[in-house]
Order: sequence, then structure tokens, then C-alpha cells
Amino acid sequence: MPRTDPAALSALLPWFAAHRRPLPWRQDYRPYHVWISEIMLQQTQMDRAVDYFLRWTGRLPDVAAVAAAREDEVLRLWEGLGYYSRARNLRAAARVMMERHGGRVPDSRDALLALPGVGRYTAAAVLSIAYGHDEPLVDANVARVFCRLFDLDAPAGEAATRRELWRLAGELLPPGRARDHNQALMELGALVCTPRGPRCDACPLAPACEARRLDIAAHRPVPGRKKDITPLTLATGVLTHRGRVFVQKRAPGDVWGGLWEFPGGGVEPGETPAQAVVREYMEETGFCVRVTAPLTVIRHGYTRFRVTLNCFALALDGEPPPPVLTEAVQWRWASPGELEGLAFPAGHRKLLDWLAARELLPGLAARA
Ligand code: SF4
Repeated sequence: MPRTDPAALSALLPWFAAHRRPLPWRQDYRPYHVWISEIMLQQTQMDRAVDYFLRWTGRLPDVAAVAAAREDEVLRLWEGLGYYSRARNLRAAARVMMERHGGRVPDSRDALLALPGVGRYTAAAVLSIAYGHDEPLVDANVARVFCRLFDLDAPAGEAATRRELWRLAGELLPPGRARDHNQALMELGALVCTPRGPRCDACPLAPACEARRLDIAAHRPVPGRKKDITPLTLATGVLTHRGRVFVQKRAPGDVWGGLWEFPGGGVEPGETPAQAVVREYMEETGFCVRVTAPLTVIRHGYTRFRVTLNCFALALDGEPPPPVLTEAVQWRWASPGELEGLAFPAGHRKLLDWLAARELLPGLAARA
């Protein structure tokens, strides 16, 4: 059992006062801003989260605005961040806050944990950072710092290690200083005690650090089992007719629920990507399309998948009949200008950017 002497961390708060980054939600710690930032920072790098935070709060300045926003608008503001359930949960949670909490982000743990998308970490972050409550927290940065500081020799993701990390966080929390203390630990993990190449010489906790004393910082935290990466070969196509593009909206409940897309899907064994896109269009819309040209191949990753997306230009002979949707809940023939206002999964947005850069869809603006 590691020793926990809060005095060992006495240099942490002065270090934070000198090195904290001027993040937008740190200007006034408005609970709404802290909540939004914490949800965005899950699975997202800081620089990217700041851009999205400024765009989001510029359009949706408070809880009431999020609750009143259309799902399409929320998803469009989130487009590119991935894990879209976070955006849908923000909107659902805002509606709960309007109904039960007078439009405020609640300041009790039970009320926060009852909100969609809020777990133990996020509740503790809102309570400590927005409201200054004495709540410990552990995120990936804090876990890494503690695993090194106390030489924990089991993977941070294991249940027993997680329990120990939360216990340590509680023991080391200086009363009345949770806002700065929690942020200081996370900032230290982000800026100094980084996953690779920790800068121990610049670390305020170096005199107390077991991993540094034993020269094993590179081996802490102990790695967990690597997730298997699954390759996926997909095919999709851009079907145009009289200057408009066919798009459909995914059904709620699937991973991209509420997002728009070009129909398509997996390439089956023995099938070429061009054959797959024709089959997928028939299955998903009833359209009998033909491939007029290959466009591009887009590679990207999400969660545990590495995707190869084969993209084609498509056409229909004659006037298009009404589609018969099997995988989607809405459809439209969108003008290029309308496409810019819809939220797409990352691979399909990359395809739109590819088309815009080559001016293959007149009226579709290239993103900066
Ligand atoms: S001394 Fe090095 S390993 Fe220890 S907490 Fe600081 S940066 Fe991390």
C-alpha cells in the first residue's frame, strides 16, 4: 500500500498557479462551461476541444439554448469529434436541467449522476471545478501521475487499481482547494507527466515520486491489454440528379444515429467495392444505381475500427422514384449548399471535402 503524505504534493498548487493554460472555461468557471468542456474533453485532444467549445458556446450560450436546439444543429456542432452519443446526451441532459433544475447545472452528486452522459468522473469535475466542492477525481492524466508517483504495478484500467486510484485521490485532496488541486493534477499529466517522455526534471512532484526514484517512469502505468483493431472495407457513393445529392438520416439508436450519410456499407467476400455500392443502394433505398466513376478511397479510424471507404460517383437512369428506406428514417435530395448544414460521420465529411476541393459538386464550399 503506497504511503500518501499530502505534504508531498505541496509544490503542486504553486506550480499550477505558474503554469496553468488560459482555457476559455477557466475564465469564470461557469457551471455550464465546465460541463460542456468536460464532456468535450472525453476522447478529445485539448486544442481541438477548445475550438469546438468556442464554436458550441458561441451558438448555444446556456443550458436553455442547448435544450431548445434541434438535434441536427447539435450534431452539426459536434461533427468531427466522434462519439456522437455525447452530443445527444448533452441535449437530453439540458432538457432534464430545464424540467427539474430551473435551467441550471445541478450542484449535487446524485442529481448530476442522474443526467444522461454524466458518470462518476464528470460529476466530480463539475462539483469540484465549477462549484468548488471537496470532490476528488481520477481521469487518465491523474491515473498516470498516481501510478508513477506511488509506483502502482497493475494496469490503471483494472478494477482494483481504479479503486485504489480513487482512494488516493480522496486522501490527497486538500480541503477547500479541490478546484485548483484537481485541475493541477490533470494539467501536470497533460504537460509534464506525459504518456511518453515525462519531464521529471520540470516536475514539482519529483522529490516524492517513486517511479522517478526507481527510474521506471517509462514502465508506469503498467500497460493493459491492447484492444484489437478490426479492418473494415466499405463502399459508398454520391448519387446526383439535377444538381442535387441523395442523402439519408441514420435511425436513432445506432452509433451514428441522427447523422446524415450517403448510403453504403460493407464489401462482402467475392464482391468488388463497385458491386457492393450498387447492392447497398438497392437494399437501403430500392434505387437501381449504376457506377459512373470511381472517386477516391478514404482511410480513417473510429473506436476499434480501421476503415477503408471506397467512394464512387453514381447515377440513376430516368427520374428517381421515392426511396424505400430500410436503414434510415429520413431522406432528401440536398443541394450542395444544404449539405454544408447537415452533420455527417467523419468518413463522409472527408468525402465531401474531397469533392469540394476538386469542385466536383458546384456550390459546395471547401472548408478551411
Ligand atoms: S517525477 Fe516524473 S514520473 Fe514522477 S510524477 Fe513527475 S513527471 Fe511523472
